Amino acid sequence: MESEHPKVNIPDAKERIKYLTNYGSSIEVDFNVPAVRYFRSGQEMIRMANLYLEEGNLEHAYVLYIKFMTLFLEKIRRHPGFKTVPSHLKELIMSRLKTILPIAEKLKQQLMEQYTLEYKRYLDELKREEKRKEKEKADEMVINSTKPVVKGEENIPTVPIVGLDSITYPEMADENRKRPENSILPSCSKPTVNRTTKPKLSLEDSIYSQYKTLRLIVVPAKTIGEFLRIANRNTLVNKETCGILAGIAKNNQFEISHLIIPKQTGTSDTCSATNEEELSEFINDNNLFSLGWIHTHPTQTAFLSAIDLHTQYSYQRLFDESIAIVCAPRYNENEIYTLTQDYGLPLIGNCMQSGFHTHPNEKPIYKVRRINILIIIIPKKQLK
Ligand SMILES: [Zn+2]
Ligand SMILES: [Zn+2]
Repeated sequence: MESEHPKVNIPDAKERIKYLTNYGSSIEVDFNVPAVRYFRSGQEMIRMANLYLEEGNLEHAYVLYIKFMTLFLEKIRRHPGFKTVPSHLKELIMSRLKTILPIAEKLKQQLMEQYTLEYKRYLDELKREEKRKEKEKADEMVINSTKPVVKGEENIPTVPIVGLDSITYPEMADENRKRPENSILPSCSKPTVNRTTKPKLSLEDSIYSQYKTLRLIVVPAKTIGEFLRIANRNTLVNKETCGILAGIAKNNQFEISHLIIPKQTGTSDTCSATNEEELSEFINDNNLFSLGWIHTHPTQTAFLSAIDLHTQYSYQRLFDESIAIVCAPRYNENEIYTLTQDYGLPLIGNCMQSGFHTHPNEKPIYKVRRINILIIIIPKKQLK
């Protein structure tokens, strides 16, 4: 009797590379964001990709390089403001493109080799499993020939066991990260993994979902209080205030280290930085990353307005982890938001409208970020 051929349920090397490339190149250019801002943030993208490379996180590095290339070789050229970008910024990005093209190509080959090896190991494991099952069946037949057959016994379903432990996928082992000391974990802490329950995701899903898994972002608890104190003068006269959340990346997580209050103008429902060049210089000179922004709603509740959604897009298209903190002091509300990956991000990226406008809302465009956020109390460390 021949056993059923085992089902191959993971994608092969080519499929996985294709997925990464598509994921990286899905970046959209939001015309609400000035073209020059894309060029300024290009530096941050490259620094982050290089960091991933140093840490051996090849997939995230590759995705970010693809994002960078898609943006500057192709999509930014459609931006109406492309021609107004100062030539020194364009030249800088062009020189970066020249250096990263061969790096990205080499990375692709490395990943291809790694995936091919993993796929081969997986197939070998399946074959071994098949042989083991055949042997079991043969043994069973010998035993059965010596004992009376119980009616219906042959219909007992068997649970397939595929020994996949020998395959290591990057990051899968990285579930038990060290928690900083003096930390409080609110209800929005990272869910713990219970290995006794069966995962709902298929193996294929879990391979792909790791690229979309958000890394932990550490927000010092005093950030909001400090910001509200600075903003208070504006809040009293019903004027919004905004700040930039800049931080560092280490050990596969982000940490907000600087709350930057840029030169700005504000009204009762808008707020914008006026000297972005200076801001960008500060961030690049200090090797920081723009991990999000914070602003007040002096008289309204906490939510993201249409303008806020486009501002958040400009952060999140750069780094998936970026957050928007909205403080509504009158209602004592402080919320941390992100655009939803599958609906909000492409919707806002493709929206051509500006100012206050409405968006289709069949599905949630943004949500309160509750996972992979860690609010910590650092008694001695000062926010700069
Ligand atoms: Zn707002
Ligand atoms: Zn819009």
